[in-house]
Amino acid sequence: MHIIVIGCGLAGLTVAISLAKAGHKVSIVESAPSIQYIGAGIQISPNSSLILRRLGVDKYIQKYCTTPIDLRMMRYANGQTLVQVPLKEPAENEYHSPYWHIHRADLHRGLLQAAEELGCEVHLDSRVTSIDPSTPSLTTKDNKTYTSDLIVASDGLHSMARTVVLGNPSLPVPTGQMVYRVTLPASALEGIPELEEIITIPRNNHWLGPNGTVLSYLLDGGGRGTLINFVFTCDVEGWMPDGVMQRPGDLATVRKRFKDWDPRLNRMLEHIGDVLEWRLFTHKEAPTWVHPEGKVCLIGDSAHAMTPYLAQGAAMGIEDAAILGGLLEKFPSPSDLPSTLKMYDKLRIKRTAIVATHSVDSRWFTQMEDGPKQQDRDEYMLAHPGIQKGHRNIRSDQDFLDWLFGYDAFEELERFLKNGDNGEKRVNMINGTNGVSELNQVNGQTDVNRYKGLGVV
Ligand SMILES: Cc1cc2nc3c(=O)[nH]c(=O)nc-3n(C[C@H](O)[C@H](O)[C@H](O)COP(=O)(O)OP(=O)(O)OC[C@H]3O[C@@H](n4cnc5c(N)ncnc54)[C@H](O)[C@@H]3O)c2cc1C
Repeated sequence: MHIIVIGCGLAGLTVAISLAKAGHKVSIVESAPSIQYIGAGIQISPNSSLILRRLGVDKYIQKYCTTPIDLRMMRYANGQTLVQVPLKEPAENEYHSPYWHIHRADLHRGLLQAAEELGCEVHLDSRVTSIDPSTPSLTTKDNKTYTSDLIVASDGLHSMARTVVLGNPSLPVPTGQMVYRVTLPASALEGIPELEEIITIPRNNHWLGPNGTVLSYLLDGGGRGTLINFVFTCDVEGWMPDGVMQRPGDLATVRKRFKDWDPRLNRMLEHIGDVLEWRLFTHKEAPTWVHPEGKVCLIGDSAHAMTPYLAQGAAMGIEDAAILGGLLEKFPSPSDLPSTLKMYDKLRIKRTAIVATHSVDSRWFTQMEDGPKQQDRDEYMLAHPGIQKGHRNIRSDQDFLDWLFGYDAFEELERFLKNGDNGEKRVNMINGTNGVSELNQVNGQTDVNRYKGLGVV
């Protein structure tokens, strides 16, 4: 088949690779006039590293990856460790694929190189302005029309294809939170004794505070030595124009907002030059990712943009890519598309909805205001180290981690094709496991509205 992918982001490139490997001819149309390698670090959990390795992308990116030993959750005010959750050891021994940290630029560049070497054509400066879902075909801003057997839309959070597929607008929903992102050379923090451990030991450091968190981890900076990546998450302050995804942030504001946090963070903030500011959005769960005519489908953030509190947005897009590529390898004929894409919906929507829901729950768990609930949380975590079944902290809950990180998209597809099991048993198993995260189902869909009024969807 000839398949057009809209969007050259992480999900778009991964699906292009997966489809090319499945034997299809792939063209990618991207609105940007050049590929911008922007952003900071990204976490790649075992469920997605397994796919990238199976698709051969590790050849291009592994050399840029660092491997955190654990996730360390700390009290914001003094850096007291509340719980340490191993990452490296279970990733390697239980989930059989590494947990990586990588600079987004290195991941993006590696994916692009892999896609191009597989023969995917990339058309830059080609913003899609309309889609005809019957042919299917699309038209770009310069009035060029491209026709194919299938269109896979990976046009991100502000997707125009989402409206075409759903038949009505389904706009991004603000979460009320924002992030400031920073990367700086670890060498800038050398010689400060209290920071030595943070800039040398690869781990995922997570400070939990009232209505905010700070995350830091190390990145391989190639020729530039080790980099340290920070994500400061807090409630939205100030206005940002619609459609602007990111812009330079104000360092003085970051320092002011985090001045009562761990003194080590304040030491680090003295050395930071530039910050980037992002608003956090999510999507309401879509009832389908496939247009009724069965020739256009969504993938990645255009299908399921979610909050980043579990660091799983791109991972879900990478899983989508593996499943879609796998299905279209088994059923390569255009006449099978409507039924094949139904399977894609069935295999993917529920899982991503559960991850999105747990991601929001994770926000509440990690961002409690000081008070009795927070004290109870902290005492519980101090008394329950590491990973345990039924742990209240979802990042420590054995069942949830097995379900999330232990997901092998290729095996899942085989199991589904053999006996129709789309993981519902495992889905049911994790509902409500940690006492915080129970799925609120309305007519078979996750009820995102339950977060309304709390200002968080
Ligand atoms: C603060 C933060 C931290 C995160 N951390 C993690 C993490 O650690 N791990 C993780 O797995 N995920 C993480 N995520 C989520 C992750 O960044 C996203 O899920 C992922 O980048 C989405 O990729 P995508 O390809 O679906 O969309 P995008 O990256 O948005 O790509 C969409 C592409 O489509 C193009 N496009 C848009 N419209 C058109 C059009 N009309 N015509 C042609 N092209 C078009 C755009 O130019 C763009 O290139 C994080 C998100 C945030 C905000």
